[in-house]
Amino acid sequence: SAKAAGRNTVRFFDMQLQHSVTERARLESALRRVLAEEQLSLHYQPQVDASGRICGAEALLRWHDSVLGNLSPQRFVPLAEESGLIVPIGLWVLEQACRQLARWAASPHTAALSLSVNVSVCQLRQPDFVAQLRAILAQTGAAPARLVLELTESVLMDDNGSGSSKMRALRRLGVRLALDDFGTGYSSLSYLKKLPLHQIKLDQSFVQGMLSDSHDAAIVRAVLGLAQSLQLDVLAEGVESQAQYTGLLACGCQHFQGYLFGAPQPLAAFEQLLSAAYSSGER
Ligand code: C2E
Ligand code: MG
Ligand code: MG
Ligand code: MG
Repeated sequence: SAKAAGRNTVRFFDMQLQHSVTERARLESALRRVLAEEQLSLHYQPQVDASGRICGAEALLRWHDSVLGNLSPQRFVPLAEESGLIVPIGLWVLEQACRQLARWAASPHTAALSLSVNVSVCQLRQPDFVAQLRAILAQTGAAPARLVLELTESVLMDDNGSGSSKMRALRRLGVRLALDDFGTGYSSLSYLKKLPLHQIKLDQSFVQGMLSDSHDAAIVRAVLGLAQSLQLDVLAEGVESQAQYTGLLACGCQHFQGYLFGAPQPLAAFEQLLSAAYSSGER
């Protein structure tokens, strides 16, 4: 009967909810152990300029749990944000990244590399975020201008002006700011001229659609045109094919990241990629 079916439906949803609550609890308690047990690491994905030379990297968080295995940041970063654990984890990421920048500064063929780090809104909302970053920069000796903080449009959603004043304080430290996943959020275009941004990262969904979908192609061209008139750098994310790269170059895009140039990889592999490029005369 309809009544029975209704009951079953309710029970089915209850079970799903129960399941996801258990799953979340499991993930969250595992997440509390990660910093203590050194289960986190950073992978480095190359970023290239218009000539294909590696000019920097994005640091991407990886979590290996002995029981749960490798966990994707798409799964655990949202949880870490909800539980507030992203704050200590994010500081750990920034410290690792700044140490790496300082090491690269010591060698001529890596000294010009920039390193981009994802910063979530919860981190930025911490009253002492700017002071903590200043301390990390001082401790590690990293050059602020080589550090790029990647923020998402959600930074602006709860804005009573605090997001953008934080961003100005960060700019005064000398770090650069990028707007990640651009085009997927809800922010108004007028923000682009008000915010102290250095770069916008064109979301990979537009890059992936640009050769088959005329709307995606139009968005790519529009974003590049707008950025150019606002004197903002554009980095195209998720570039997987030579055809996408060529198409983006034709629209005036200056920076690129994606599997075509290299996947996120452990530091040693990324540095091998760099020295191979260096000795073949690319750098
Ligand atoms: P994101 O910052 O937009 O990072 C780019 C994502 O696209 C990465 O996924 C990367 O592996 C993937 N990607 C790169 N090139 C390609 C490509 O050519 N094709 C495709 N299909 N994908 C590509 P990943 O590493 O799984 O990270 C997912 C998201 O997790 C990141 O998106 C970022 O929002 C978040 N995240 C990662 N590390 C951190 C971190 O340290 N802190 C914070 N707050 N968030 C992080
Ligand atoms: Mg990013
Ligand atoms: Mg992105
Ligand atoms: Mg993303």
